[in-house]
Amino acid sequence: MTTTAQQPTHVPGGGQLFVVSAPSGTGKTTVVERLVQVVPGLTMSRSYTSRNARAGERDGVDYNFVSRATFEAMVARGEFLEHADVFGNLYGTGRADAEQLMASGKDVVLVIDVQGAGQVRATGIPLVTVFVLPPSFEVLEQRLRGRGKDPDAAIRRRLDTARGEVAAYEDYDYVVVNDDLDACVTAMRSIILAERVRRTRMRPTAEAILKTFGAQPVA
Ligand code: 5GP
Repeated sequence: MTTTAQQPTHVPGGGQLFVVSAPSGTGKTTVVERLVQVVPGLTMSRSYTSRNARAGERDGVDYNFVSRATFEAMVARGEFLEHADVFGNLYGTGRADAEQLMASGKDVVLVIDVQGAGQVRATGIPLVTVFVLPPSFEVLEQRLRGRGKDPDAAIRRRLDTARGEVAAYEDYDYVVVNDDLDACVTAMRSIILAERVRRTRMRPTAEAILKTFGAQPVA
């Protein structure tokens, strides 16, 4: 696995950046797809990947599918906010994509692996991180085998990687267990909504309200 730190990206006055990581098979993509449907103003950034599309996946919807050569050229041009080699394929978040979404005032959620999350954290961009844990190793194994998307060797590899990844939960701001999809979405929604009313975020609104207090003589 390789990682490369990139330069800071920050959009003053723009939306907030959220990062969600979890071992493969935890169901994080399903959770976040639901989340963006129930939280107005929240959008998911679409990653680039050099891996082949699985059956049913669509280019420009699930991922931007590109060749390894195209991906590597984008890396060389510094076009990724973060990128990583995951299970032998390259994955990355387009810097311009994330910046444009945030500049439009939207909160942006990146569903990325722990290596990518570490890179985004290292840039110093203000961000909120959430780790989604499966209820247990056994449940993760059942889910990976049950979805029937991957050959046995790939499943073993994902499970092996998961053993290392779960320890990374310590580096995240929030930890949610995906034992029930609705409950997991509700917990994530609460995190987003609470983060939106942090005092530091609310300062411009609070100051505008406070001004009205100063301007009005008490009758
Ligand atoms: P899958 O191939 O199953 O769609 O994804 C495999 C892994 O790649 C997952 O852990 C997923 O979170 C991660 N991943 C997807 N997009 C990105 C990305 O843009 N950056 C990084 N670092 N990881 C990603």
